[in-house]
Amino acid sequence: MSNSVYQTVILGGGFTGLFTALHLAHSHYPRSVILIDQNDRFCFKPLLYEYFSGQMEAPQVIPRFSELLCDSGIIFVQDTVEAVDLQNQKVNLVSGNSYQYSNLVLALGSVTGYFGTEGAQVHTLPFRTQQDAIAIDRHLRDCLQRALQIADPQQRLQLLTVAVVGGGPSGVEMAATLADFLPHWYRALRGNPQEIRVVLLNHGQEILKGDINDPLRSIAETQLQKRAVPVEILAGVEVTAVRPHAVEYQRGDRTETLPTATTIWTAGTATHPVIKDLAIPPDRKDKHGRLQVTKTLQLPDFPEVFAGGDCAVVAGSSFPPTAQVAYQQAATIARNLKAIALGGELQPVEVNIRGTLLKLGLNSAAANLFNTLELEGETAHLIRQATYLTLLPTPIHDLKATAQWLREEIFQQYLHNQNVGKKVVQAAEVVGAGVVGLLVARRLLKMLGDDDKNQKT
Ligand SMILES: Cc1cc2nc3c(=O)[nH]c(=O)nc-3n(C[C@H](O)[C@H](O)[C@H](O)COP(=O)(O)OP(=O)(O)OC[C@H]3O[C@@H](n4cnc5c(N)ncnc54)[C@H](O)[C@@H]3O)c2cc1C
Repeated sequence: MSNSVYQTVILGGGFTGLFTALHLAHSHYPRSVILIDQNDRFCFKPLLYEYFSGQMEAPQVIPRFSELLCDSGIIFVQDTVEAVDLQNQKVNLVSGNSYQYSNLVLALGSVTGYFGTEGAQVHTLPFRTQQDAIAIDRHLRDCLQRALQIADPQQRLQLLTVAVVGGGPSGVEMAATLADFLPHWYRALRGNPQEIRVVLLNHGQEILKGDINDPLRSIAETQLQKRAVPVEILAGVEVTAVRPHAVEYQRGDRTETLPTATTIWTAGTATHPVIKDLAIPPDRKDKHGRLQVTKTLQLPDFPEVFAGGDCAVVAGSSFPPTAQVAYQQAATIARNLKAIALGGELQPVEVNIRGTLLKLGLNSAAANLFNTLELEGETAHLIRQATYLTLLPTPIHDLKATAQWLREEIFQQYLHNQNVGKKVVQAAEVVGAGVVGLLVARRLLKMLGDDDKNQKT
């Protein structure tokens, strides 16, 4: 256990925690910083589908903390947080170690919520981490292999049917991805791709209802039908039980069964157990158990503690639990930690929702930009990729991944062009979205310049 008087401890190395640490490192924060995460890798969740479908590699989507924090001065500890003692300013870890803090950042995100649905926790596959992506990949490959050897059409269909529970953005993105690449896999094994079924079960009558992606619903519905096999949407159904080989659901007053060997659960999130167990009165939490924080992102009764991302709600605001919110809150937390260290004034958080991006298949997406422009198909796909590439952590990492994508996807036909000015214009045309396209292209061009410089030195 460390007893340093001025020690800032960050719990969770996701969008809030990692980016808080990186901001602190970049701004020469004068105190020692420890980042604790249960995994050895950061997970860039919006691109987890690309990792899952093999479109991007682990070093890009799931880079190691040791690599990201190299030379940053941040101490990384791989361990699982068991409990936080707010009164005594101490964090207890599963390993038995504990850390004293002068400032703490709670950035543990959320966990999968099953709402007590019978069998869901045991018989469904979640999709939130690298391990989840690997588990689904293995399971599906196994199902397809077994299906090839089964003559009975009903048994084969059960193996070739995937149920995705939850018509929010994760469910929609997962269903669209599977409906594109499962037929492709199965064809490669010499199976009949048209036997693949992807069924999206949604509680409400409309997918994406009440979500930040709500305006993209009609594009999403159209795109789901345009996949290699159309996604079947079962709307207005309540999943009541999940068995090893079936999903049971209620439609009106009838109970129906969908035979399937694969049920992927994207239906909800729940408050992290460590957050739930904090000794904080219920009126300092919202109805889901998330921490209520001040506009400066501090716990009202423990101002030395900051919280952001999926585990917190800001007083008087309704930011959606998304990466773009967590990412922007990280900047505020870092700024305010530095203000505390240097005796400055704390600033309220400012979050700008610039738009939403939805992956709708292997090379297709929908984009809602500044709530004024909606795009779909390949153009939206390229904007989505380019946008996320500019957000990947650390300049070095960012640069590597971006240069790779530039070559493979976005500007390949222009890379041989010696005329830099023309390259910007053409790049923006390819990205194809006016302001956003230009911003992205400028950023990419700057990186290309940096890349050239780096290679020369
Ligand atoms: C599949 C998927 C796709 C998504 N796509 C998008 C998208 O396109 N756009 C968007 O804006 N948002 C998206 N989101 C939501 C977004 O990823 C989250 O809102 C964001 O990650 C929240 O950031 P966070 O810092 O609160 O938590 P996280 O990023 O989840 O980080 C929490 C960290 O805490 C660690 N941790 C948890 N428990 C412990 C413990 N006990 N001990 C130690 N460490 C622990 C975890 O390992 C993790 O690294 C997506 C989410 C998922 C699951």
